[in-house]
Amino acid sequence: MTHVVIVGAGVAGLAAAFDLRRAGVDVTVFDPSDRPGGKLRTTDFAGVPVDESADMFLARVPGAVQLCRDLGLAGELISPAIGSAAVVHDGALRRLPEGLLLGVPTDVDAAVASGLLSEAGAAAVTADLARPEGPPAAGDPVLAEDVSVGALVRSRIGDEAFDVFVDPLLSGVNAGRADELSAELGAAQLLTAARRDASLVRGARAQLPAPRPAEVRPPVFHALPGGMGRLVEALVEAVGPSNIRLGMSVVAIEPGAGSSAGGGGGGLAVRTDDGAVHTADGVVLATPAPVTATLIRSLAPDAAAGLDGVAYASVGVVALAYRPADVPVPLEYSGFLVPRRAGRLLTACSWASAKWPHLGTDGVVRLRASVGRSDDERFVSMSDDELLTAVRAELRDLMGIAAEPLAWRVHRWLGSLPQYRPGHRTRVDRWEAELRERAPAVVLAGAGLRGLGIPACITSGRDAAAALLARLG
Ligand SMILES: Cc1cc2nc3c(=O)[nH]c(=O)nc-3n(C[C@H](O)[C@H](O)[C@H](O)COP(=O)(O)OP(=O)(O)OC[C@H]3O[C@@H](n4cnc5c(N)ncnc54)[C@H](O)[C@@H]3O)c2cc1C
Repeated sequence: MTHVVIVGAGVAGLAAAFDLRRAGVDVTVFDPSDRPGGKLRTTDFAGVPVDESADMFLARVPGAVQLCRDLGLAGELISPAIGSAAVVHDGALRRLPEGLLLGVPTDVDAAVASGLLSEAGAAAVTADLARPEGPPAAGDPVLAEDVSVGALVRSRIGDEAFDVFVDPLLSGVNAGRADELSAELGAAQLLTAARRDASLVRGARAQLPAPRPAEVRPPVFHALPGGMGRLVEALVEAVGPSNIRLGMSVVAIEPGAGSSAGGGGGGLAVRTDDGAVHTADGVVLATPAPVTATLIRSLAPDAAAGLDGVAYASVGVVALAYRPADVPVPLEYSGFLVPRRAGRLLTACSWASAKWPHLGTDGVVRLRASVGRSDDERFVSMSDDELLTAVRAELRDLMGIAAEPLAWRVHRWLGSLPQYRPGHRTRVDRWEAELRERAPAVVLAGAGLRGLGIPACITSGRDAAAALLARLG
């Protein structure tokens, strides 16, 4: 029987293992952690299961919804009870306007009426609509190559709309600077919009789904009432718990005895940190980029050097539980975003029990406050108590919460979110081509490649499994 080793039991590795098992392949998944799921983790918080990191995924990107269907979880999917979010503006919470596509206004009147833009800022957005219809003029960089989201958006709708709407939304996803983020990977819909129409607003409008009454509008996000841990649990069950070896790191991958090049013919030898050597016909590396780089250095040195260069941002999540009487603002938003120009420690705060009513059935208000950006790692050097004090001071300021929380907890995700610079996708294609050439039985997956959202990670794992199955015949 063909045997494949999967390195990393995050959602990408488990998704790869799931497909390989379904194809009748024998799999062994290694992970140094004491539990599977990687960055997906749900644990009890003040009596209910609450996610320590990701708590939802995009519905329109197919990877996660399809996997939930395949695992029999589709009937459990839920969507947020509240669709609108707030943003910190001039020290207060203000509703974000309707019709933003990754922060780009498609309803200019709503954006102007929101009061979040100055007259000049609003005029820059409105002026975008005066551009001639049709694709931008030949020679516009967006037509030929990947650009940063900042370069793309600032040149169309101005700096202010970028700072107020686009950067907070995107940095809420990857904790980076939208000025440095690859449009191709971080905001593909905006790149398509900019290629389609010289006006970004018009191009973005064309990306929106056809207008439908609210009651039949498809949800934007999905979650599971048991948290993302439910997805991990179902994957582990399907892969077979005994095929997942926790508490074990892979430290090297070498061509096996009699192998031609990196797996052709004699298979691969996979070394774990207990000194054991496991033979495998193929390997899926579903690890963060720096780990992957170390493991493929001797097989594909240029790819390893490239993966080494992928920067990662650190973030923290502080969960807090309050009595409703201690929260003096109406919980009418899913939460709020904090633009980097506000200079605060908080980057966002999800009003978790308002957004997901099952998290508040016991009458407790649960919040999840986020800290940390690629250019703001102040929280890393704070103790948990210092971090709590700083977060509480900002929540007092913004939401008027002065009371002690009933419960709180801190989770730190250091070096967790890859930062895709423009051209990242092309570089990944090149790294994979080198690996295919030199070690065809070793394939890559995971957030470091083509998207850090759960759906993209799942797709990367499933694509890696398909590629390996094709190569192993
Ligand atoms: C705080 C936070 C909030 C997020 N929120 C969302 C959200 O709401 N929606 C969304 O879609 N995405 C969200 N994300 C992103 C998403 O959760 C991750 O990008 C995704 O889970 C990464 O999956 P992965 O399998 O690629 O990597 P990981 O989950 O990082 O898994 C990699 C695994 O490799 C293992 N490993 C490392 N070294 C070795 C080794 N030598 N040998 C064997 N194994 C090894 C690690 O232990 C780990 O388990 C969030 C991320 C964070 C940190």
